Amino acid sequence: MKWLARILNKQEGIVRAQFPSIFFTNTLSGRKEIFVSQKPGVVLLYSCGPTVYARAHIGNLRAFVFADTVARTLAAAGYRVHRVINITDVGHLVGDGDLGKDKVAVSAARERLTPEAIANRYTKLFLEDLDDLSIDTSDIQFPRATKYIKEQIALAKTLEEKGLAYRLADGLYFDTGKFPGYGKLGGLSDEELEAGARVKVAKGKRHPADFVLWRVAKPNDLQQWDSPCGRGNPGWHIECSAMVRALLGQEIDIHTGGEDLAHIHHNNEIAQSESVSGRTFVHYWMHSAFLTMRGEKASKSLGNVVYLSDLVEKRLHPLSLRYFFFQAQYRTPISFSWDALAGAAGALDRLWRVSRVIARESKRKSADSEARDQFLATMRDDLATPQALGILWSALKSEEYTPEEKWGLLEDAQAHLGLSLLDPPKQPGSLAEEDVPKEIWDMLMRRETARASRDFKKADHIRSAIERSGYHVDDGPGGPVLTQETL
Ligand code: AMP
Ligand code: ZN
Repeated sequence: MKWLARILNKQEGIVRAQFPSIFFTNTLSGRKEIFVSQKPGVVLLYSCGPTVYARAHIGNLRAFVFADTVARTLAAAGYRVHRVINITDVGHLVGDGDLGKDKVAVSAARERLTPEAIANRYTKLFLEDLDDLSIDTSDIQFPRATKYIKEQIALAKTLEEKGLAYRLADGLYFDTGKFPGYGKLGGLSDEELEAGARVKVAKGKRHPADFVLWRVAKPNDLQQWDSPCGRGNPGWHIECSAMVRALLGQEIDIHTGGEDLAHIHHNNEIAQSESVSGRTFVHYWMHSAFLTMRGEKASKSLGNVVYLSDLVEKRLHPLSLRYFFFQAQYRTPISFSWDALAGAAGALDRLWRVSRVIARESKRKSADSEARDQFLATMRDDLATPQALGILWSALKSEEYTPEEKWGLLEDAQAHLGLSLLDPPKQPGSLAEEDVPKEIWDMLMRRETARASRDFKKADHIRSAIERSGYHVDDGPGGPVLTQETL
């Protein structure tokens, strides 16, 4: 079989040569690893999505900006990335355990709506948030758990037939003792498994870590379906195993989520999926760290959350949140404060100003440079965004690079970071380039160059010249606002 190994190695060599080296920290090994996709040039990427019982807060959104950055980095390196983000509209109980009330049902009762209407409302808001954060939702599948009930039942049934599940009065449970290596993600010890298991443990469970696959319906459960295990509803973990399998297959490249999901939810997904397929479920597990508020995890139940709409109300651009996230590497917790966010908004504003000037100077033509290589290598080194921003800033400020080289760098930065760097948003009420004579636009850009290099005297001088020509310029939160003087 040596000849086969040689051919395979050779093929892998060819594939590796085609794609640049990318390194990701894999929670499975706890180490940074080189990324190799299962199929050449294609990446199957699944991200645990929102539970649509309330609006996503900016902590939740960090997990999705992170997944988007993984996808962008892979796409920029030439991969075709197939993405799924699930929408949890049933099965996720208050307290994240096996017992208690369903989060969507609780919201439905509170808001006097059906669970479906609740799920629709918050799914729509979630997708709008993603759009505002420059996440291209047209490329992602968003399956809902309630549309995959058949698949979840089939998986639960297979697990029972294989002797990996047992019935209790309140449902069908996965027997973790029958899955060798249960808890391998994050390397959980037995004590941690017990401590990490539910506070309220169902009566009769063989091990505290065992978890529900299918729950027998309570008389007034709003969402219930017939199944061989009785009328009921699915456990939370089975939806991801079922939807990954249905939409991406038995073996995928990358699975992402917030760090709180690794120990229980993701270990349970592994147990379910690998027990059925006998194959490696996910090759790279990637987890993003929390956003904290005054030292505590931001969470709806703690009531210390901020929404994307709060930023907009404060006249901060939603993309300033993206910039703020990038100031920390995804595996580092990030502490939110309005001051820190305003700092990020100011930095992004300056970046947009510089970008407008470079667009004009380079005529949007790009050239290669050492800074571009450094930027790419840094992003490909486990998405080291703080360092990548540092490289971007120092090259843009440097006189060693030509406008074309700077434009090339901005193109790479845009592809990886998605901060609207090539087409900074126009300020509300401002005239656009095509609305004014060329000499006025040139003056505006020269003033921006002067401001960017902190030559405020020159900037004021140009402003006077603009005003003498019948125009007026103000400095808005996201760039200059040019208007025509009216008589
Ligand atoms: P949920 O809507 O609660 O199911 O969570 C959606 C995603 O947000 C999951 O990947 C969570 O791990 C993540 N998440 C929840 N709270 C935070 C937080 N404070 N910071 C970062 N990610 C979070
Ligand atoms: Zn999941």
